[in-house]
Amino acid sequence: MAYDDSNIFARILRGEIPCNRIAEDDYALAFHDIAPQAPVHALVIPKAAYIDLDDFSANASDAEIAGFWRMAGQVGRMLGVAQAGGGNGYRLISNAGPDAHQEVPHFHIHILGGHPVGRMLADAR
Ligand code: 5GP
Repeated sequence: MAYDDSNIFARILRGEIPCNRIAEDDYALAFHDIAPQAPVHALVIPKAAYIDLDDFSANASDAEIAGFWRMAGQVGRMLGVAQAGGGNGYRLISNAGPDAHQEVPHFHIHILGGHPVGRMLADAR
């Protein structure tokens, strides 16, 4: 499957669509989800074009992978949900493909917190 550079996150990266930015560096961009499903709902995306975790883990450079995950942790601290910063924790989700209902085909993780987010995968069985 080829990367579709008309997806909404590619357009955000090109500056064609605004986002509510949390953090940005050479490797990754973090911003608030437009339709938050928890008091804290951030998205972290790599700057380069990867479809999902499978694509990212197979094809990204070590520097891209390290940069991405360092930003993911930093965002949890910046938004006050990381336990190390006095927060009460958070959940990471990354949807990949149709069974997971991935809507935007640019690799991303969701960071959800700010209140109890429930048990994991209540309707996955
Ligand atoms: P997925 O289902 O692909 O894992 O999640 C895509 C997420 O992107 C959804 O939570 C959706 O609310 C969010 N989203 C879709 N379009 C936009 C947008 O234009 N701006 C922002 N900030 N989030 C978006």
